[in-house]
Amino acid sequence: MLDGLDPSPAARAGPAPWGVTDDMLDHHPVLRLLPAPLRDVVRSQGRTCACASGDRLSEVSPVVGFVFSGALAAFDDRGLACVDLMGPGATFGWETAFAPPPGGLRLALLDSRWIETPVIGLRDAMGAAWLEHVFARHAVDRIHRLKAESACHAVHAVPARAANLIRRLFQAGGPDVRTTQSAMAEAMGVQRTSVNAAVKALEKDRVVSLRRGRIKVLCAERLSRAACGC
Ligand SMILES: [Zn+2]
Repeated sequence: MLDGLDPSPAARAGPAPWGVTDDMLDHHPVLRLLPAPLRDVVRSQGRTCACASGDRLSEVSPVVGFVFSGALAAFDDRGLACVDLMGPGATFGWETAFAPPPGGLRLALLDSRWIETPVIGLRDAMGAAWLEHVFARHAVDRIHRLKAESACHAVHAVPARAANLIRRLFQAGGPDVRTTQSAMAEAMGVQRTSVNAAVKALEKDRVVSLRRGRIKVLCAERLSRAACGC
């Protein structure tokens, strides 16, 4: 569960030290495939954003996001459960074309970078029908992930789930997983002490080594074996 629904001022997304370039558009799997008019909208109206591991971001504006690096955990509007984990190549916010932005928060599990584009610009360029189509596909994907997440929560023990989260963060950002155990606990909906015990056991088995704010993966194969794999 998240501690509170108000992000600290320092946690708001700020401009990153780079602009939206053609090169960036070509390096995101969804942006790369967007029709030319939409790429123009992203190029002219898009805003680059970055945040650090542990930052909380409120979803307040109707924007579509395209994640380039890191991992953002999306929570429901009461902050009770993580409903999605968005890594490189993910998108979010398509639903804001049809309803007010959800009140939920996003919590960065890794240092993250993404582009935000006002949804109204995308709708003006392509029309509501096109957006409905994209939203429908996105919603179905999200429902599948949510079902898998719920089943994982119900049947798999914390050590296997913790290993699995580290495995996913490792896949998103490489072996130097710069995250905190409290952020992991929030994303998993469990006590930090449970995560700490699970991570300590992985360290004892030399699957990972621990440093302040950092989990270094020493053996990806053993990490996969320890993880539930959801
Ligand atoms: Zn699982």
